[in-house]
Parts: sequence; C-alpha cells; structure tokens
Amino acid sequence: MERALKRPDLRVCMISLGCAKNLADSEAMIGQALAAAPGASVCSEPAEADIVIVNTCGFLRAARDEADETIATMEALRAQDPAKRIIVVGCYPQLWRDQVLRRHPGVDTVLGVDALYQTEFWSNLLTDATPRDHPVPVTNRIMRDFEAPRLLGGSAFAYLKIGDGCSQRCAYCTIPLIKGPLVSRSMDVVLREADDLACAGVKEIILVAQNTSAYGMDMAPRGKPKLAELLRELDDVAGIEILRVLYLYPTLVSNQILETIAASRHVAHYIDMPLQHTEPAVLRAMGRPWAAGLAKRLVARIRRIMPDAGIRSTFMVGFPGETEQCFRELLDELEELQLDHAGAFAYSREPMTPSYDFAQHVPWSMKHRRLREFMERQQQISLSVNRNRYLGKTISIIVDDVDSSRLAGRTFLDAPDVDNTVWAPVGKTKRPATGDICRVLVTACGPYDLDGVLV
Ligand code: SF4
Repeated sequence: MERALKRPDLRVCMISLGCAKNLADSEAMIGQALAAAPGASVCSEPAEADIVIVNTCGFLRAARDEADETIATMEALRAQDPAKRIIVVGCYPQLWRDQVLRRHPGVDTVLGVDALYQTEFWSNLLTDATPRDHPVPVTNRIMRDFEAPRLLGGSAFAYLKIGDGCSQRCAYCTIPLIKGPLVSRSMDVVLREADDLACAGVKEIILVAQNTSAYGMDMAPRGKPKLAELLRELDDVAGIEILRVLYLYPTLVSNQILETIAASRHVAHYIDMPLQHTEPAVLRAMGRPWAAGLAKRLVARIRRIMPDAGIRSTFMVGFPGETEQCFRELLDELEELQLDHAGAFAYSREPMTPSYDFAQHVPWSMKHRRLREFMERQQQISLSVNRNRYLGKTISIIVDDVDSSRLAGRTFLDAPDVDNTVWAPVGKTKRPATGDICRVLVTACGPYDLDGVLV
C-alpha cells in the first residue's frame, strides 16, 4: 500500500556538477522524481529546498574538491534546517564512497553512477518519507533500453546521451573505473528521446558519450561503429534545426562519419575530438599509441571532406615524461593545425590509474607554466581563425539568450559554453527569441567572442 505524501508541495533542488553527460543524467533523475509527484516543484536555491540532490563529478582531484565544497555547503544549510535532506550521487561516490561518507556525515543518501537507473528510488523520493536507497543491480540491458522523462532547463539546446562508459584504457583516466566499459543506448531509445526533446521545443541536440565515435561497437561481438547510421536517422527528426556531436575519439573519426555529416541537412560541420597530445612518445605513454603525424593527417582529411568544418580539440600538458622538447613540439603542431578552438588541462595524478606510478612526473609549477603558454598560443590561433572566417561576413546563428539590450548566440560551428559566443544588440522591434535562427553581420572578433548586428 502506498504511504501518504509527507507534503504535496515539496521543493527539490538539483545541483549538477561536471560535464554535459552529468547534466543529461541530472535532468532524467529529477524528471523521474517529479513525474511521480505532481504537487512538488523544482527550485534553484538550495536554501529553499526540502531535498537537495548533488550530482557529482569525480574524474579529477579538482572535481572532487568542488564536490566536497558543494556538499559541505549543503550540510551547513541543513544545520539551519534539520528537515532538509541531502542526496549525493554520481562519479565521486562511485569510486570514493567511503571518503564521501566519512567527510559528509550530514548526507542522507549516497548512490553511485547507477543512480539514474534506480527508478523505484526516484519515484518514491517525493512521495515516501523513507524511499528505498539500496541500489538495484543495473545490467547492460537496463542501461541500453533505459528511458525516463527529463526536466529540461529551458535552453534552445539539450544534450542527448547515446552511451556511457569507455572501452579505451588511457593511462591517466579514471572513467573506465568509474563507468565501466562502453554501453551504447539502443537506436530506438535515442530516436524517441530526440523526438521528445523536439516536442519540448529544443532546437539543437548535442550528442554526448564518453566516446561518441564508438557508438554501437558493443552491440554485437566485434561490432562496427554505428554513429553514421544514428546520425542519418536523427537528421530526419522533425523540429531539430541543429545536431552536434561531441567527444569523437580521433582514430575512430572515419570517412563514413565525415561524409555522413557533410551530406546531412542538420548535423553541424563541427568536429570535436580530444587529441590530448601530438608527440608520439607522450601519446604512447598515455595509452593512445597512434602513428606519428595522425593529428595532421586527420585534420587534413576532415578539411578535404568538409572544407568549412569547425574543429575543436582538448589537450593535456605535463603528462609524466613530457619533456620541454615534447611540449615545444606540441606547440609547433598546434600552430600547424590551426584549430578553431582548443582547451587544455594540466595532468592530474589520479590514484588507481596506471600513470600514477609512472616515473618523471612534471613539477606543478612547470605544468601550469605550460598550460598558460598553450592557452596563450591557442588564443592567438583562435583570434586569427575567427577573423578569417567571420569578420565582415553575414552568418547564421542560433539564439541562446536575450535580455533587454542584447542577445547571446552561437554560430553553427560553436558548441555551448566552450566555443565562441556571438553578441548583438536587440531593440524593441527587432527582438528574436531563444532558439531562433538569425542572420548577423560580424563587426568585431576576439578569440572567444564575436560582435555583430542583426540584419
Ligand atoms: S577515451 Fe576518454 S574516457 Fe576513455 S579512457 Fe581515454 S580519456 Fe578516458
């Protein structure tokens, strides 16, 4: 027999830390909770919430520090309001559960990365004083076929997870330990979720997974990647103006994927592939043993098949054994690649990864000097690419936000939060809405921002 509601007007606050994949999970967890409790509502202020959920990242030490700080803040709020409940889920407790429990005695419930799939827990969360919090085992079948309502944040874009986990074994990375090997979501489920997003008014869908180019490889023994097939199907979803793919593993960026993107109606000519490094010895040590020159050949191939492609990558500096010579070679190659955008991290020495025990760790101050130098070099490159590509030209943008005086948007070659933002003044008569596609004449460029006027 169902227990009576504690209170029909409970307020719940979701704090989603970390990456876009976490955000998609957060929307599905809170979506499940609210679907079962029609009187409950979401609030953005944890101080006002009856229940606070913190979906954590645990990939790097810095992310765990951020999670600790956030949870401690919630515990302090609870000291003022003892009825408040705190739930911590995700990557951090998946691998560091004992640490979370020891450091945060004020937390009520701790669940790992399987939290998303605990349907009974979420559907009881707001309707039952004591929801079951013993996670049920989650099989690959459950993950593959999982569907849940999502509570979206009202943006023009939404992330759509096509898989989880990773079957690569990069020497510095805790993701395979946290998430396990790749499990792709079934194509039908992904297509249904894309339809739902379109019906909810989303104009841009951004496909995410730890390794999107491996999509489908786990679906059959020695299975072939099916990303190109998935993109062709998604291209027909009514109402979606832009499809974008993030996190392509470089050696799996096939001609088939590139040709599919080039021939599609809606898939942005945008390639995001974390290269991490270009120097062969460093790549080998990283467990990414590619042939020398792969990055240059790959970028040339992308530009041959899609001459207008916007290319983004991510790099890591200060990996153990990276000499000054290796770093200089990386900077030289960055100059040659002329990528639209590149981000970089300083190597983080993560317990439980193979590289933790490697010799020749690079001192902290050297790593951070290299990081600064890398980013300064890439800023110059991005500025020059932006000027050549956009200055004085009229381009299409998607509007992300509008206030009383100006809009913020993006070109089709820019992903949210990490690439260019386009700014343009708006008036009372010429005032587009979020999600509109507009034409803008670009009048000024920086490395991360374009200024323009609506035409
Ligand atoms: S491909 Fe990415 S997620 Fe997978 S192990 Fe390497 S760095 Fe980690």
